[in-house]
Amino acid sequence: MTGPVHTVDEQLLAEMVQRESTSVFNERLIASALVSPMVIAFVVWLQVTAAGALQALEWGAMIAGVELLILFFGRGFRKALQGNRPINRWLNAQLMCCGLLGLMWGAATWFVWAPDKFFFYVATLCVLVGVSFICMVVMAPMRWAMLPFAVGLFILPLVQLLVIDNPVGREIGVGWVAMIAVQLRYSRDLRQELIRQIDSSVRNSMLVESLTRVSRELTRANTEKETRNAELHALMEQLNHLVTFDQLTGAYSRRYFMEELDRQVALHARHGAPVSLIMMDLDHFKSINDRYGHEVGDRALREAALHAKAELRDGDMLGRVGGEEFLVLLPMTNLEAATSLAERLRLSLAAVGLVEGVQIIRIPASLGVAELRDDEDATAWLRRADDGLYKAKAAGRNRVVAVA
Ligand code: GH3
Ligand code: MG
Ligand code: MG
Repeated sequence: MTGPVHTVDEQLLAEMVQRESTSVFNERLIASALVSPMVIAFVVWLQVTAAGALQALEWGAMIAGVELLILFFGRGFRKALQGNRPINRWLNAQLMCCGLLGLMWGAATWFVWAPDKFFFYVATLCVLVGVSFICMVVMAPMRWAMLPFAVGLFILPLVQLLVIDNPVGREIGVGWVAMIAVQLRYSRDLRQELIRQIDSSVRNSMLVESLTRVSRELTRANTEKETRNAELHALMEQLNHLVTFDQLTGAYSRRYFMEELDRQVALHARHGAPVSLIMMDLDHFKSINDRYGHEVGDRALREAALHAKAELRDGDMLGRVGGEEFLVLLPMTNLEAATSLAERLRLSLAAVGLVEGVQIIRIPASLGVAELRDDEDATAWLRRADDGLYKAKAAGRNRVVAVA
């Protein structure tokens, strides 16, 4: 996991805000250069009417040249910014253009001055006021852009006011200075507001980015955890299966079966329903191992369990509690019914004939049966079933002995 989510790298943030604001400045400057021909055309028309076509064309060509320079530097600026290359050269060029632009617009008044063309002079001044307000907005994002423009715009009209005999020259001069001062001041406010906006949007996007990263890491960690949980769950299931069932025959394990016996004893104490137990041991099983090998012995054990299970009803349980020793638990079954089931089991096993090469292997079994008594625990109950088995073995094997 990376550092805290809520911290933003302030230095990186400052750099990004700086880049973003210079980019806005450049884009606005390009846009203004693209729309400027309309205003230029209007001023040229004023000049053609007031001073003649030649002067108008001179001025028009000069200011159009500056606008073209802005477009040219603007493209370079944009590419440098996108390519993450140094932009200072382009920025300085654009700042210089801002100064030139101010100078050129200011120069517009020179060409329309004639005592009898006062209307054109005032109309040009009005256009310049409009242009200067637009440029104030355009150049606001860049700290030192408005100043060269304002100085340029300031110089020529004021010089002109000094050298020509203008009846309202002083008023215009004062108004001009006041207007430029207001614009410089307001431009600063605009810039600060814009920087605030950019700062908060960049800050937000940085936060969103780091939140997204953290959330992605969390999701991954979560997925890993879920996978591990699933693996653990599968392992638990396996383990549970291992503990509950005998792996060779699929019968219940000794451990599980003994617990089940205790449960049955408790149930019997509560409800008094009959429950019986058969203990079964395969006869002379050792000799199968000895004659055919352990693997054949295993196969015989599996067959015996399979045949025994086939005789049982739902709810009866077969458990393997020793090498070739099985227990059968019969809930809701009295001694008589259990004995007849034991007899069926015996007959079924006695009928099995395992083919091994040319040999037929028999797996008969001896069985002891006991029904749970009211006063008895699982150990005593087992011992009685075992007694029955012992008697069956003693009586010659392949038989059932019930212990009342
Ligand atoms: P009987 O019960 O009739 O007295 O004779 P037995 O030969 O079956 O005697 P005993 O119960 O003493 O022998 C059990 C034999 O079962 C011993 C061992 O070789 C075999 N056995 C026990 N567990 C396994 C097993 O998991 N696989 C195989 N193949 N044989 C086993
Ligand atoms: Mg045996
Ligand atoms: Mg045995």
